[in-house]
Amino acid sequence: MEGWDRLQSTTPSPLEVLQSDRWTEADIRISIKRDDLLAWAPDDPFCGNKWRKLKHNLLAARSARKETLLTFGGPYSNHIAATASAGRHLGFRTIGVIRGELVDNPTLQRAREDGMEFHFMDRDTYRKKDTAAVKLELENRFGSHYLLPEGGTNALALQGCAELGEELLEQVEKEPHFVAVASGTGGTLAGLITSLSMHCQLYGVSALKGYFMEEQVEGILRRYAHDTFGGWLINEDYHHGGFAKTSPELLAYMASFEEEFGIRLDPLYTGKLFYALDQLIENEYFPRGSSMVVIHTGGLQGWNGFV
Ligand SMILES: *Cc1c(COP(=O)(O)O)cnc(C)c1O
Repeated sequence: MEGWDRLQSTTPSPLEVLQSDRWTEADIRISIKRDDLLAWAPDDPFCGNKWRKLKHNLLAARSARKETLLTFGGPYSNHIAATASAGRHLGFRTIGVIRGELVDNPTLQRAREDGMEFHFMDRDTYRKKDTAAVKLELENRFGSHYLLPEGGTNALALQGCAELGEELLEQVEKEPHFVAVASGTGGTLAGLITSLSMHCQLYGVSALKGYFMEEQVEGILRRYAHDTFGGWLINEDYHHGGFAKTSPELLAYMASFEEEFGIRLDPLYTGKLFYALDQLIENEYFPRGSSMVVIHTGGLQGWNGFV
C-alpha cells in the first residue's frame, strides 16, 4: 500500500499477551499493544505514537494544500525524525526548528537523510516560539507552511491517540483495569485519557526528570478537550537521570526483556515504562488480579544515538 492509503489504513496494530512466571505469580495479566509495528517500514522513525499523532495533521495539511511542514524539537526528538520521514513518504518539504546551537547526532542525521532542512534556534527565541513575532519570522523565512507544535501535540494529535484507545478496546475480550504509556509531552496520554478514562485507569510513566507532567497533561486536556477527566495518574520516578539519559540497570533490563519476549524496547521511553511497571509489580503496587495493556509507542530509532 502506498502513501495516503497506507496512512488511512484501518488495520489495527497487534495486541499480544506477554507471559512471564513473575507476573503470573503476582496475578497480573499484561498485554502489549504493538504500535511499534505501525510503521512505514521496519526501523522507520515514522511509527508508533508518532504515526498516531501525525496522521490527522498530515491529512489536514493536505486539505489545506500546504506543501511544507514546519515543526520544533530538541536534538533527540523522535518527533523531528518522524516528521521528516512522513514528509518524505507523502511529498511534503519539511523544516525542523531545533532548540539550541548547531549540533549533530544520529536522530538529526536520519531526519536530514529524509530531506529535512534545519534551523537552529537559540534557547531564548525558542522559548518564544509560540508568539506571533517568532511565527511571522518563520513564515517570512520559510514561506507558507503547516505548523506542528513541539512534540506534535495538538488537537488532531489527541484525536489520533484517542483512536488508539478505541482500537484497543475493540481488541480486548474484557476491558483492562489499566492502560500504561510512556510520556514526553504527555500528548499521547492525554489522547488516550479522552477515549479510555471511562473504561479503565490510565497510568503514565514520565521519561523526563521533574514533577511537572501532571500539570502539563492537565493543561493539554483543558486546552484541547475542555475537560481534565479523572481516572489517570503519572509516575515521575523512573526517568533514569532525565530525558535521553539511561542507567546500567535500564540497559540490562531492556536486554533481558528482549531475550524473554523477543520484543525490542527503546531507551528513551518504552524501556523506562516497562522497567517501572516491572518494579511496581514486584513491589505489589498493582492489586492481584489486575489486567493491563501496555502501549509500545515505537521509538526504536532512538537506539541510533546509543551505538
Ligand atoms: C515521542 C514518544 C513518546 C512520548 O509521547 P508524548 O505524546 O510526547 O508524551 C513516547 N514513546 C515514544 C517511543 C516516543 O517516540
